[in-house]
Amino acid sequence: MADNIFSIKTKDKATKARIGVLRTKSGEIETPFFMPVATKTVVKHVTTENLEGMRAKAIICNAFVLSMRPGVELIEKAGGIGKFMDWKGIVFTDSGGFQMYSPSLYEGSTDEGVKFRNPFSGEELFMTPEKNMEIQVGLGSDVAMCLDSMPLLENSKEEIEEAIRKTAIWAGRCIGHHKIIQKDIPKEKKQILFGIIQGGVYEDLRKISSKYLVDLDFEGYSIGGLALGETREQEMRMIEIVKKFIPENKPVYLMGAGNPGELVEAISRGVDIFDSRFPTKNARTGTIFTWKGRLNVRGEKCKEEFAPLDEDCDCFVCKRYTRAYIRHLLKHREGVGFQLASYHNLYFLQRLMDKCKEEIRKGTFDSFRKKIAELYADSE
Ligand SMILES: [Zn+2]
Repeated sequence: MADNIFSIKTKDKATKARIGVLRTKSGEIETPFFMPVATKTVVKHVTTENLEGMRAKAIICNAFVLSMRPGVELIEKAGGIGKFMDWKGIVFTDSGGFQMYSPSLYEGSTDEGVKFRNPFSGEELFMTPEKNMEIQVGLGSDVAMCLDSMPLLENSKEEIEEAIRKTAIWAGRCIGHHKIIQKDIPKEKKQILFGIIQGGVYEDLRKISSKYLVDLDFEGYSIGGLALGETREQEMRMIEIVKKFIPENKPVYLMGAGNPGELVEAISRGVDIFDSRFPTKNARTGTIFTWKGRLNVRGEKCKEEFAPLDEDCDCFVCKRYTRAYIRHLLKHREGVGFQLASYHNLYFLQRLMDKCKEEIRKGTFDSFRKKIAELYADSE
């Protein structure tokens, strides 16, 4: 039953890359795909029209952040996140485990849940896996994430071990409660739930976490706790390990990855879904993705360059504006400058995903992967 939310259409022969279709209550989407991050129901400096313009099909919002402000009730009244922001595409929500662990909010956690302080009201709150599922169903997203215990890269192995133990307990409670609250909803209207595999950069912990989660039989699996500053080799090794445990017919989502080189390498290892703040964060500081590699548009060199950000890009920004103009706007921290640069970087990643699919279909993905991985070798 759970299997038919995802099917694989084409497999690459030289690598583990694949093209699939994910079916959600808001429609289908071809994998691999990249989701712009819309934490508070907006991608920073990017409108819903802009998202349509770049032909993005899915975004990811943060359930925990939205539950505090504007609150689930308001979004429910609006008809869900999609209606609230007039977005007709697919919406993923993250549980917000990651944010709850930020030092300014986090007050402690037990096997029961996470204690934290609402930064807006100062109120002390307790998040349980069950409560988190109710929030995500209330927000009306198409795909929800389990509440996980999110270890940081600098945590000791013992701390990460404890985090995967808690993540497994919570995953069991999430899937159980998620089924109960959706029991009267017809299958085609149901929200999909992904389990999150943790384990830092430790092979043995990744294995344990994968086994726990796969035993619970989720509809899809997320790989959490990577793209946090480990080396690319470590990151890819962890993907290879968890992929050994995840059944072939389940979609796999690498959370937080947005470097072009990282994306093609992960796709070649069988990852299907991505999201990251990386493209918009880079855009705001003037780091532009191009088909020839990175461009620092804030640099002195671009001061009098009246060429587009990327001459091989056909986005509206590149058709119309020059490097010199965008540099000038970014130097003055003008909102429009942030918008133009963010749009281009996100557009680039959308086309990168299209190109990956095209190359997989042609049977030439591996050489394309090599080229992009070399152009974007470093993780910064
Ligand atoms: Zn462009």
